[in-house]
Amino acid sequence: MSIMADPPDGGHIGEALRRARAADEPLAKECAHWIGAERRHCRSTENVRPYLTGLCCPLHTPRALRGLPEIPPGPGIPAYRNRADS
Ligand SMILES: [Zn+2]
Repeated sequence: MSIMADPPDGGHIGEALRRARAADEPLAKECAHWIGAERRHCRSTENVRPYLTGLCCPLHTPRALRGLPEIPPGPGIPAYRNRADS
């Protein structure tokens, strides 16, 4: 009975967390790139990061597959820069 009742707040956060964990657990953190020539997934776990196309190792990011260098991290949102010395 109390399990089914929604808490007054934090209910949506709890649900999001549950879904995130449920989605996370069956999947290992491994590169999802399909190597067509070898008819297998890459499955590398080295430095795997999430991209729009899924988890990728550095060799198989969307830009790496097009022969382009990775975009270096930027300074962030301008509003959050330190403007004390301007
Ligand atoms: Zn890979």
